[in-house]
Order: sequence, then structure tokens, then C-alpha cells
Amino acid sequence: MEIKLPPGGNLEQIKRIEAVAITLMAKHGLRPGQAGGWSFKWGNAAKVGGTCSYKTRTLRFSAPLFSLWTTAQAVDLIKHEIAHALAGEGHHHDEIWWKIARDIGATGSRCWGKLGEKSIPPTWKGTCPKGHVRYAYRKPKQARCCGICSPHVFDARYIRKWEPNQ
Ligand SMILES: [Zn+2]
Ligand SMILES: [Zn+2]
Repeated sequence: MEIKLPPGGNLEQIKRIEAVAITLMAKHGLRPGQAGGWSFKWGNAAKVGGTCSYKTRTLRFSAPLFSLWTTAQAVDLIKHEIAHALAGEGHHHDEIWWKIARDIGATGSRCWGKLGEKSIPPTWKGTCPKGHVRYAYRKPKQARCCGICSPHVFDARYIRKWEPNQ
């Protein structure tokens, strides 16, 4: 997978975090290779910091986000996902998950951002003829009209114009 870094993203930090994540996963018995093993993967998600897939037994983390975060911020999310793997499928963010998360040293927060983690600025900006602005990470493929000017029906008079967000 090709890693795409946002402006200001630090590639060295990504490499450092990968090593930290693999060590932490191994410490909690999540090792690749053998049957029932778990693996570490990078993804390019802009908003979701990490996911735990029971089907592929993979913890996947956002390279763009981690390239902007401190090691401590990344470690909290890594432990959050490790707790999902250890809790098992179906627990989501219940008491059992929460206890495991706390036991392994995570804050137990359900979503990232509480430690001051940076988010990625949206790459696209859509403006309707009346000036209502909406931001997006991908340019919509179909014309969409402004939800403020015409909330219930599609009205071509209120189509948003998209441009790169700078
Ligand atoms: Zn979670
Ligand atoms: Zn509008």
C-alpha cells in the first residue's frame, strides 16, 4: 500500500510508530504468522484512526493521522485497538472492552481527539451560489445541491462548486 502523507506529515514518525505498535501487539500476544495470529497494517483513512478486523485478524492504523501525532497520542489509539482484539468480537466499547483498555494502559476514550491529536484538513471545499460552505476529503462524483438552500429536494440552482481547499 502506498502511504499518502498530509502536509506536515512526518515519515520518520510513521516508521517509529510502526515499530512501537508491533512491539506492543506482541507484548499482548498479537503476533503475525502462526494460525490465529494478528497483523499490523497501515491505511490511508483521513478520519478513522484505527480499526480492528476480526475477520482478517488485522489492526489497521491511519498513516496520514499518525504522521501528525505524537508517539503518546498514537500509543493510546494502538492500545484502544489492541483492547478490541483482546476483548473479542461483539464487545465494541462495552465494560469488558473498557476494563481491558484501562488494564493495558489506554485512557479508555472511545474516540481520538481528547489528547489534542491533530486532524487532517479536508482537501476539498464546496460552495453553493449563496455562499454556504461544506468541506470534504474527496470531491463528490455527482453534483450535489446545498442542504441549507434546498434541504429536501435536488434543485440545480443550488449546486455546490468544488475547489481544492487551501
Ligand atoms: Zn473502538
Ligand atoms: Zn446554500
